[in-house]
Amino acid sequence: MTDPYKGFSRRRFLKTAGAAGIGSLLAGGVAAAAPTEQPATPRPTATQVPTRLFGKTGQQVSILSLGGMFDLAANQLMLRQAVQWGVTYWDTADCYHEGSEKGIGKYFAKYPQDREKIFLVTKSDERKPKGISGLLERSLERLNTDYIDLYFIHGVRSIDELDNDVRRWAEQAKADQKIRYFGFSTHRNMAPLMQAAAKLGWIDGIMMKYNFRNMHTPDMQAAVAACIQAGIGLTAMKTQAEGSWFDWSKTDRTASQLAEHFKQKGWSEEQAKLKAVWQNPHIASICSQMDSMRLLKANVDASVDTTSLTSKDVALLQAYACATSEHYCADCADICEAAVPHQIPISDIMRYHMYCRHYGRPEWAKQHFAALPEKVREQLMTTDFAAAEARCPQRMPITRLMREALEDFA
Ligand code: SF4
Repeated sequence: MTDPYKGFSRRRFLKTAGAAGIGSLLAGGVAAAAPTEQPATPRPTATQVPTRLFGKTGQQVSILSLGGMFDLAANQLMLRQAVQWGVTYWDTADCYHEGSEKGIGKYFAKYPQDREKIFLVTKSDERKPKGISGLLERSLERLNTDYIDLYFIHGVRSIDELDNDVRRWAEQAKADQKIRYFGFSTHRNMAPLMQAAAKLGWIDGIMMKYNFRNMHTPDMQAAVAACIQAGIGLTAMKTQAEGSWFDWSKTDRTASQLAEHFKQKGWSEEQAKLKAVWQNPHIASICSQMDSMRLLKANVDASVDTTSLTSKDVALLQAYACATSEHYCADCADICEAAVPHQIPISDIMRYHMYCRHYGRPEWAKQHFAALPEKVREQLMTTDFAAAEARCPQRMPITRLMREALEDFA
């Protein structure tokens, strides 16, 4: 084993560091001007999650969205509680856990009056109109509904995937009242994709990886501005900005300081990372996978707490981001993947490591890895990643992590 910290979960670290409570698994953000330091105040009890306008749609959405990449069929009480706390933006996908869409459908069968309260998102992995239609029909059936509020093409990698055929499909699906709005999610090359989408004129919403690490970069700030100008509603995901690996011998002190600082303010580190994103008023909502009632409560508490992050809070998050940059894949896939042959999806594999090591979900990592073409998996063993490593702005140990993917996920 080359990495002594491999498998050392974030949760275990939080326990070790004595962080307060537990927050979101996923989060992101832009920073508006930070206010000056304020004395700690008691945290409020959860009431109703605030709402924000979603782009030009005129639709108000809850600023906290329930990410449904788990078995919602087995978590019906949580859906009920989410509605009661005002977490009324629900996110799922055709490809998620079998119990995700079906779980929401089960809930709507029991509480049909709640359907109109929910801003419902699901996603298609297909790109051709016929395939998208097939998946939409399957989603409608599983979800036990006649319409989807916002329908995403899932994991868009290039703006070329959103061609005129897709545009016509979206227009027809709206005319048929099967979807209200249309957009896409993306994990890679986010800023260029957002810029290109802003020029299309027919994209209503985008969900992108957005967090305290990338929110300050000029590229992401310009991309957000372009989308806002174009009236595109923005949902942040991966807002906790978890890494693909750890070396806490280098970063333990910074992480401990961060956790202790926010504990003194009555927040967990995870809640603070959510607040960093919400501090940008242009982000309509944060999609967070909340697979326990405790996590749902912690995130709802953070959303209703109106205390802003101070300049010191923001500076500490940035210091932590710097200290741990080599652990975090920024999904600038064009940079590293252009340096290796065989179209190996380096940034995707980095995400699978994150699923395994931070989310504690090795089965997700294995499932995604198994979906890669067999040839790509074979080429991982023999490809020389030195040029990719040399280009990586995060200085990630790409060679080692690609080999470990073979050891851990194959
Ligand atoms: S491995 Fe490095 S270059 Fe490649 S996508 Fe991740 S951060 Fe960017």
